[in-house]
Amino acid sequence: MHSNCTKNLLGLEDIILKKLIQADNYVTFFIETAPTTQTCPHCGLETRRIHDYRNQRIKDLPMQMKHTYLVLRKRRYVCSCGKRFYENYDFIGTYQQRTSRLSLKIIDLLRKVRNLKSVAEDVNVSVSTVARILDTVNYSAPSIPDCIGIDEFKGNAETGKYQCILTNPKKQQLLDILPDRNQAHLSTYFRATSRAERDRVKFFICDMWKPYVELAKAYFPNAKIIIDKYHFTRYVTWAIENVRKRLQKTMPAKLRKYYKRSRKLILTRYAKLSEENKKACDLMLLYNDDLRLAHRLKEWFYNICQSEKYSYQRTAFWEWVKDAESSGIAEFENCAKTLRNWSEGILNAFKYGYTNGPTEGYNNKIKVIKRISYGIRNFDRFRTRILHCSI
Ligand SMILES: [Zn+2]
Repeated sequence: MHSNCTKNLLGLEDIILKKLIQADNYVTFFIETAPTTQTCPHCGLETRRIHDYRNQRIKDLPMQMKHTYLVLRKRRYVCSCGKRFYENYDFIGTYQQRTSRLSLKIIDLLRKVRNLKSVAEDVNVSVSTVARILDTVNYSAPSIPDCIGIDEFKGNAETGKYQCILTNPKKQQLLDILPDRNQAHLSTYFRATSRAERDRVKFFICDMWKPYVELAKAYFPNAKIIIDKYHFTRYVTWAIENVRKRLQKTMPAKLRKYYKRSRKLILTRYAKLSEENKKACDLMLLYNDDLRLAHRLKEWFYNICQSEKYSYQRTAFWEWVKDAESSGIAEFENCAKTLRNWSEGILNAFKYGYTNGPTEGYNNKIKVIKRISYGIRNFDRFRTRILHCSI
């Protein structure tokens, strides 16, 4: 066969195609290379003396949807020092069972959120091969930007119940996945970064998990600690939800039926309700003083959150906390107490405007990866997969 033809067909340089077998479900190319001068890996002298040949079957990218193999006539040279050695071939990977381009293709396919099995089927290798190739992908710990966000997700790794996701909310970047949210793990992780790097961190955004704050104080002494908005507004939502549930329980069955739609009516911002729903909401609030007051507090709190004027937010926040604390509604008294405890981080959220919201998309991606990688309990592999699909 003409050598140009081979090149086009196989896309490999300096290959001589000797024979081609096309079966229904596979293609095999019998190939060899031209002899060249070799440098002995043992002594460094040059040699052209051929000792013998051995055929090796190598898996390649599927061609025409068929399993594709290269049978390479591997040449063994012998040196004047007496040692024998095989020629090196650029297109074969380290363990010589696959072409390098097949491995690279698998690595590329793994960037898509899909399970290992479907990748394996695409390129006709076993799932364990795909897993092994995934293990060769390595993401080292990133350098720390001046703004970092940390959040957790319920993972399925053997390292702990919750894994952490480290992000740069400013740039909406995923930085790393950490094996556990406990302090020992987090400390080990951040201790590995240089003091100078940590000192440069200006903002640290987290939820209301004490160890995060303690960690930030210890490792990022110059950072403003910001509580993620979603996490603290949730307390207000929970408070009014619990008021509603409490009231609903004490209602006669007849009225309870009427309150069936109440959850959405009460949780939605009043301004966003249709005229009809506003009336329905008004009626509901008229029925009970606690719920009316709770609703007023909820709306007020959301207004504070939405304001863009920090000076107003700061004053209003404290007014709100004091009002809620003396509201006589246990749910809001508790909520206000919590917000008071976290006031510094909450006020920083108002002042600087950073949230973990922009990186929420990564949490969704992780959820999907978690779902499709049922078997993966190995944290390193799970981490690699997430980073590989995201970075
Ligand atoms: Zn030698």
